[in-house]
Amino acid sequence: MIHAIEQFAAIAATVLFIFALYWMNDPKTARRGVYAGVAGMAVAIAATWIQPEIIHHAWILLAIAAGFAVGVPLSRVPLTAVPQRTALSHAFGGLAAGLVGTAEYYLWLHEGPEQFTIFRMSALVVEIILGFLTFTGSLMAAGKLQEVRWIPQRPVTYLGQNFVNLGVLAAAVVLGVLLVLYPTAAWAGRAFPLIIALALLFGILLIIPIGGADMPTVISILNSYAGLAAVAMGFVLDSKLLVTAGALDGSSGLILSIIMCRAMNRSFTNVLFGAFGSVKKVKAGGEQKEWKQESVEGAAQLLEQASQVVVIPGYGMAVAQAQHKVRELYDQLTKRGVTVRFAIHPVAGRMPGHMNVLLAEADIPYPALVEMDEINPEMPQCDVALVIGANDVVNPAARTVTDSPIYGMPIIEADKAKTVLAIKRSKNPGFAGIDNELYVQDNTWMLFGDAKSVIGELVKQFAGSGFH
Ligand code: NAP
Repeated sequence: MIHAIEQFAAIAATVLFIFALYWMNDPKTARRGVYAGVAGMAVAIAATWIQPEIIHHAWILLAIAAGFAVGVPLSRVPLTAVPQRTALSHAFGGLAAGLVGTAEYYLWLHEGPEQFTIFRMSALVVEIILGFLTFTGSLMAAGKLQEVRWIPQRPVTYLGQNFVNLGVLAAAVVLGVLLVLYPTAAWAGRAFPLIIALALLFGILLIIPIGGADMPTVISILNSYAGLAAVAMGFVLDSKLLVTAGALDGSSGLILSIIMCRAMNRSFTNVLFGAFGSVKKVKAGGEQKEWKQESVEGAAQLLEQASQVVVIPGYGMAVAQAQHKVRELYDQLTKRGVTVRFAIHPVAGRMPGHMNVLLAEADIPYPALVEMDEINPEMPQCDVALVIGANDVVNPAARTVTDSPIYGMPIIEADKAKTVLAIKRSKNPGFAGIDNELYVQDNTWMLFGDAKSVIGELVKQFAGSGFH
C-alpha cells in the first residue's frame, strides 16, 4: 500500500514540477508555477517521510524546522538580491547532495562489499564531485554578487590558471575512478575525503577568474550542476523522483544559461574562461564629446509633445526601485494621448526577466512590454527614447567597436530614436565597465539623478498645473 502511494506521489510530484516550469514561462501564469513547484516539493517530502523505515524518525521535524528557519528569511530578500539568493539555494542543494553521498559511502563500507557495484559507485563519485564543487562555487558566486569585501568582484587571473584548475578537477576525477574500481581498498577511506577537498577547491578556483558581470550566467550553469548532482543522488538512493526532478532542474538551468549566452552573444567557454570584466575602461571611440544636461521641465515638455515614447529600463531602475513612479509617468503620458511602450532587453538588469517582474509589480499592462527584436525596427519612428538606468543594453559600441567586450551583443537601438532622454546618477559606466557613446550623441539629453526621484519630479510636472 505504502509502495503504491509512493509511486503515485512520485508521478504527481513530477507532473507538478513539469507544470511549474511550463507555467513559469509566462508572467501571467508564473505565480501559479511557483505554487505548483511548492506543492510538488511538499508531495515529494511527504511521500518520502511515510516510508516505514523513515516515519519513526521524528528528528526529521528538526531538519524541516531548520529548512524553514533558513528558507523564510531567504524568501524575503529584495528583488535586486535574487541572483545571490538563488546562488545560495544552489549551494545548499550541492551541499545536501555531497553530504548524502558521503553518508551513503560510509554506510556501504559498514554494510559490506556487496553494496558496491560499479554503477552505484560511479553515480556516488559523480554526486560528491558535482555536489561539493557546486557548494563552494555557488557560495563564491553569491559572495561576488553581494560584493562581499574579501571576494574580488573583478576576474583574478594568472599564468597557467586553466592548467591548475583542470589539474585539480582531473586529480579528483582520477581518484574517483580509482575509488569506483577499488571501493573497499585500505586507502579508500582516506582517498574519499581527498576527493571532497579537491572538489571544494575546484569550486572556488572555477569562480575566481570570472567577473561579477557573468555571475548570473555562472549561477545558472551551477544550477545545472546541482541538478546533475541530484540525478546522481537519485541513482545512488534508487529514487526515480530525484532522478526526474534533478534532470528537470539540470536541463532548465542549462537552457537558461544558453538563453543568456545567446542574448549577450557569448559562448559558454567565453563566460567560463574569458575573464570578462577585467578590461579596463575602453573608450567607445572618437574624440571626447560633451554630455548635455536637460532640466526636468524641459524633459517633461519633450515627453508631452511626443506621440511615440519608448521607455528602456535597465539595472538602475531596479536599484532605484523606480517602477511605481514609472507607472505613474506611464499613466500621465497615456492620459495625454502619448503612446508609451517598454522595450525589454533579455539581459537588462541582473537576471533574466528582471524588468518584466518589476514592471508587472507596478501593474504596467503587459501588452505595453515589447521584446527587443520587435521594437528595434520601430525605433527610428520613436519620438523620445527614455532610458531609465540602462547602460550596456543600449550601448551602440556593441554594434561598432570590434574590440569592445560587448561587441556582437544585440542591443535596444535607443540611438536611432529622434530624441534620447537618459536617467542615471553619474558619468560612470555600466556593468561591462565601458563608455557609452549614446549619452554623448547629438540628440541625447541627460537627466542626472536617482531614477526614482527624477521620474517622481517628472510626474510632479505633469500632475502640477503646467501640463494638460
Ligand atoms: P548596466 O549596464 O549595469 O547599467 C546600469 C546603469 O544604471 C548604470 O550605468 C548606472 O549608472 C545606472 N544606475 C544605477 N543605479 C541607479 C539609480 N539608483 N538611479 C539611476 N540610475 C542608476 O545595466 P543594463 O543596461 O541593465 O545591462 C545589464 C548588464 O548586466 C549587461 O552587461 C548584461 O550583459 C549583464 N548581465 C545581465 C544578466 C541578466 O540575466 N539580466 C545576466 C548576465 C549579465 P550610475 O552609476 O551613473 O547611476
